[in-house]
Amino acid sequence: MTDKQRIAVAYGDGIGPEITEATLRILQAADTPLEFDRIEIGEAAYRQGVSSGIPRQAWDVIRRNRVLLKGPITTPQGGGYKSVNVTLRKSLGLFANVRQCKSYTPYVASNHPGMNLVIIRENEEDLYAGIEYRQSQETYQGLKLVSRPGTENIIRYAFEYARAYGRRKVTCMTKDNIMKMTDGLFHKTFDAIAPEYPELRSEHQIIDIGAARVAAIPESMDVIVTLNLYGDILSDIAAQVAGSVGLAGSANIGEDAAMFEAVHGSAPDIAGRDVANPSGLLVAATQMLVHLGLGSYAERIKNAWLCTLEDGIHTADIYREGISERSVGTTAFTDAVIERLDQTPQIADKVTYQDKAIEITLAPAIAQRKALVGVDVFLDWSEADRDPNVLGRQLEAANGDGLRLSMVTNRGVKVYPEGLPETYRSDHWRCRYLGGEGEGEASGAGSVEFPQVLRLLERIHNAGLEVIKTEHLYTFDGELGFTLGQGE
Ligand code: NAD
Repeated sequence: MTDKQRIAVAYGDGIGPEITEATLRILQAADTPLEFDRIEIGEAAYRQGVSSGIPRQAWDVIRRNRVLLKGPITTPQGGGYKSVNVTLRKSLGLFANVRQCKSYTPYVASNHPGMNLVIIRENEEDLYAGIEYRQSQETYQGLKLVSRPGTENIIRYAFEYARAYGRRKVTCMTKDNIMKMTDGLFHKTFDAIAPEYPELRSEHQIIDIGAARVAAIPESMDVIVTLNLYGDILSDIAAQVAGSVGLAGSANIGEDAAMFEAVHGSAPDIAGRDVANPSGLLVAATQMLVHLGLGSYAERIKNAWLCTLEDGIHTADIYREGISERSVGTTAFTDAVIERLDQTPQIADKVTYQDKAIEITLAPAIAQRKALVGVDVFLDWSEADRDPNVLGRQLEAANGDGLRLSMVTNRGVKVYPEGLPETYRSDHWRCRYLGGEGEGEASGAGSVEFPQVLRLLERIHNAGLEVIKTEHLYTFDGELGFTLGQGE
């Protein structure tokens, strides 16, 4: 007999308790060798004043068990509450988010019968770092952080996944025509890793046309790998296009912990009415079983679930006159899955799961020769009708000590020297100083020492200008570590 494995279970908020109860009932009916340790996170914890939504006792259970099955959690709007989901993913190092979006036609209505795609999304970085600032009266800023190891790990995971599950193609989606450093790194890393998997086709699409294709011709996609925010948006589109957000599960995988949840949220509009579709969390639970090396149990449950869909026993979100046989609530749907635990789907693909989680070797650290070559000084400035020529002259007066003003931009567009009078100017200015000759040619800029930057800031401050932040300009093995201004 297999030893029982303990997993943490959070029932969640809204429809969470109903769909979690349903999922656990099916796991138990299938005799899965699991023990459930229930934890309270989310709304109840927020109400008790735990602003993270995760009390200490819950952390202890999660960290001990390393695997969490989680119902959806309501994130209160505003008020300084942090999203429990984002906190869990980041604190536990769950770098990969895997969402399969498949249509189940002809049993569940979908305009895309052949759709069967998987979105593998980077789960810890990008704009989800949540580092945001208001820096002037008019301007707010969010930091988009993308690391080379983070990128390499998710891309390698996507290729390994595609290989393990017999997929044919991996599509990378970025917006590197605009974000040349962050998204550019993602695209370049994808191109560097792809040749290691010669049996798989690889391609890159700009995220906007890529997302449009997911909506219009999802059957042309196989495995998609992308950054955090794009992946979040894309997977809801894909889940909805496949039939319902209520059908898709999501696995969050880290090196030594994992969390499984439905793609959808806590659906407060239908909570407590026994109408929610438990399928998303159930599918996530089957992903969890595979992760735990219990693939045969996953297969049995997934097949019973497919039989239920095939028999037309549908919850309200997927019920369609003429296709469905019976409209049922959460409890009756769950009973129907349990009744079919030893049945094999007739027409829908019979699933077979391998008993193995995907493993990758995490990216090693690298060391390149790093040199400071200049500094971008950001100002909050609204004087002289925001005339860039007035500001430019004041900034040039601070030249010296090996640093020279090279340009001023406003919202990324060069406005000095030789800006266009038509360019709109906000109160947020970026003033680029480069070392050595400095003028214009960033790549030819000379080396700068940090004290030179400090003295420059002092000169700018003494000129009566308000410095709100600085960004250092580096080269790495001689390659620029910063973008040029538009028009530079
Ligand atoms: P939602 O996914 O909860 O609901 C969107 C729509 O889909 C609603 O009409 C809902 O009734 C329907 N729906 C969702 N799940 C369903 C199911 N299983 N069966 C039938 N219909 C279903 O999105 P929302 O309304 O934008 O968000 C509600 C709350 O959930 C918010 O507080 C949000 O922060 C949170 N949320 C949590 C998670 C998570 O825990 N991973 C994910 C997304 C949103």
